[in-house]
Amino acid sequence: MSVAVSDYKVSQETLHADRWMRLAVLITVVVPPIGFVAAIAMLWGVAFNWSTLAAFLVMYMLTGFGVTIGFHRLFTHRSFKAPAPVRAFLAICGSMAFEGSVFTWVAEHRVHHQHSDHENDPHSPHLHGKGFRGLLRGLWHSHIGWLFEPHSPDLHRYVNDLQRDPVASFVDRTFVLWAALGVILPAVIVGLVTWSWMGVLMGFLWAGLARIFLVHHVTWSINSVCHLWGSQPFRSRDESRNNPIFGIMAMGEGWHNNHHAFPTSARHGLRWWELDTSYLIIRLMGLLGLASDIKVPDQETIMRKQRTPGSTD
Ligand SMILES: [Zn+2]
Ligand SMILES: [Zn+2]
Repeated sequence: MSVAVSDYKVSQETLHADRWMRLAVLITVVVPPIGFVAAIAMLWGVAFNWSTLAAFLVMYMLTGFGVTIGFHRLFTHRSFKAPAPVRAFLAICGSMAFEGSVFTWVAEHRVHHQHSDHENDPHSPHLHGKGFRGLLRGLWHSHIGWLFEPHSPDLHRYVNDLQRDPVASFVDRTFVLWAALGVILPAVIVGLVTWSWMGVLMGFLWAGLARIFLVHHVTWSINSVCHLWGSQPFRSRDESRNNPIFGIMAMGEGWHNNHHAFPTSARHGLRWWELDTSYLIIRLMGLLGLASDIKVPDQETIMRKQRTPGSTD
């Protein structure tokens, strides 16, 4: 459901003009996670405890970093190199996030960068009409709606390089196995730790399903919220934004304007205060010999792309 590119500018002006719309977006993003934490607090000791919390957090980080470090920065953008066992581990962790196989994920994301916020971008929140209705339609499409639309038939040509990697190819072919493992593993571990069937159920529900739910919405918010709400310190020919909330929740991916300006950079949080836990781990992996050729733009390149204050270019 897209409109002509000529309408795009008009819808942008509408969006810029109405800060209330942005406030509405902010509320819909911030309030549900607060409710989620409150629900956990109320269920503490009844249907949630320390072992469930530990399993939830470990699975959130494993699968989250699998997507950010593995699917995104390693496989999509080649921002660093890693030996085969590390590539396998990251591809498996990313698959456990239940966001599709590594090849499909990478291909869709490469299409996004090629057409970002223009015709043929699979998940732009723009191009869906004017005013508040256009914003809502765009939000829905970019967040979830695009997942229900058919994949482009030539998606495979975006992953020609990855198809030559036997490790990535194997994990891609066996995606269903790893996705299932993502809910079976926490159920078994929490069951064994608590030695109870209740533990199996809690591990499955919290560290399996609830964790998938949260990782999904955080990832999808990069496509929706981070193309609508936040700052744009760099010229990037699209509507990508730096959003501090998702800078933290999405392990550095929320510095999305930085990322669109420097897509091959392993580091998304470019300033000292832009916390980028994925990059910190890549650096640590580098020190341990698990990552090499870590790409980061030099200061001069960064300065050249900086947007002059007040400009809209
Ligand atoms: Zn983007
Ligand atoms: Zn990217």
